[in-house]
Amino acid sequence: MWFRRDLRASDNVALNAALRSGASVHCVFVFDRRILAGLPPDDKRLVFIHAALVELQQTLRDAGGELLWRDGDPVHEIPALARELGCCSVCANRDYEPYARQRDADVAAGLAANLGDLRLYKDTVIFEQDQLLTGQGKPYTVYTPYMKRWRQSFHPALAAEASTALRGALATPAALRPLPTLAELGFGEASLDGLRVQTGRSGALVLLDDFRRRIAHYKTLRDFPAVKGVSYLSAHLRFGTLSVREAVRVALAEASEGAECWLNELIWREFYQQLLWHFPAVAGDSFKPEYRGLPFPNDTALFEAWCDGRTGYPLVDAAMRQLKHSGYMHNRLRMIAASFLVKDLLVDWRWGEAYFASKLLDFDLAANNGGWQWAASTGCDAQPYFRIFNPVTQSEKFDAKGQFIRRYVPELAALDDKAIHAPWLAKALPAGFVLGRDYPAPIVDHAVQREAALKLFARD
Ligand code: FAD
Repeated sequence: MWFRRDLRASDNVALNAALRSGASVHCVFVFDRRILAGLPPDDKRLVFIHAALVELQQTLRDAGGELLWRDGDPVHEIPALARELGCCSVCANRDYEPYARQRDADVAAGLAANLGDLRLYKDTVIFEQDQLLTGQGKPYTVYTPYMKRWRQSFHPALAAEASTALRGALATPAALRPLPTLAELGFGEASLDGLRVQTGRSGALVLLDDFRRRIAHYKTLRDFPAVKGVSYLSAHLRFGTLSVREAVRVALAEASEGAECWLNELIWREFYQQLLWHFPAVAGDSFKPEYRGLPFPNDTALFEAWCDGRTGYPLVDAAMRQLKHSGYMHNRLRMIAASFLVKDLLVDWRWGEAYFASKLLDFDLAANNGGWQWAASTGCDAQPYFRIFNPVTQSEKFDAKGQFIRRYVPELAALDDKAIHAPWLAKALPAGFVLGRDYPAPIVDHAVQREAALKLFARD
């Protein structure tokens, strides 16, 4: 059993299949150097993954097995280990990203050379690949009909738990070998301490249990970043410390508008997964051909101010500082910050996509690309280009009392609840506060940039 983005020992389809095969099962994780090579030493995701693996290894040991590990290129490591252990089949859960597809094809070829095979299973989503197609047999490119079809096609067996007892089915390890430390892997300057990030399978269960008690209010609270309205489960869904079936079961167990709304978000996740599967080219360019090659001015100083949370637009800055500090950003803020980069700062959405990819603990190519292309109006079911968020009115609406802004932009803490959304418009600022010195004046004028964005998208 080769673990990848499914770091749990229960409700795991590939593991379940391996355990039920009757053969004794070796479990392995590969620290993929082709992925790790692109990450900075203080990448928070490594801390998250490492914590999940430590728990997984302990769970497997408690059941008489072991989590073996390798550090290198899986294309070489997996066939070599299979040969060493005398494994005829390797089980893993399917990953829909272009890199993973190529990697798995190469691993399968390596195994085939030794008469072995790679067995891939659907685990990350409820519906995959061609399972949901339009009446014309085409992939869905619009969310609402996809969501309706998803709901019509769903039956509870699709979310049934896939678990089998570990004990007795796991291969007895020749020796127990602790996981490498982060420092040994070349990482470790990052820490999740103080960020209230709950890691590992146990962390996923704590968060799920907490959210279960709040799910009924999800619809009404989910848009307010200062309020605990969302689940904060995205990194767990990303790395599989939570199975999507568990999440769906929680949504279905509760008859409330909140639970319905949350299920729709899980369906958005699958919508983007199937989109990436069918249209892998979205990972490099606009889905809509008419928006390829838009002449964005791409001012690097504006881009850097956005990354650092120094745009002079308080809610955008609070959002960007939250991302840098914690690796998380609330969904409403992701939409506002992304729209601001593209339509106020006129920077190519791919720059923002790459920046988010480098910072988000829950970074997921399908969801991140989908979210960026939605905000930039270049995606398949995106908001139209002339719909441009006003960063001040969004702030007044979704952080009315400025609580979220005050948390991440403390230099504005003394401004009143009106001034805090747009300090440059305030009739009076607190004594001693100087705009431009204590906090940046806005780096662009929204009204002017709005017109420029309309022209750019219309190619006037
Ligand atoms: P909840 O509101 O509790 O939602 C539950 C789960 O549903 C999430 O954990 C996530 O798995 C899924 N989900 C929710 N909204 C979406 C959505 N719009 N698209 C796809 N899946 C969704 N999500 C990621 O998981 N990884 C990303 O890299 C990512 N990048 C984004 C970039 C932009 C520009 C935008 C606008 C959105 C992005 N999202 C991404 C979607 C969404 O913002 C996050 O999933 C959500 O904020 C995570 O918080 P949560 O777990 O509390 O979400």
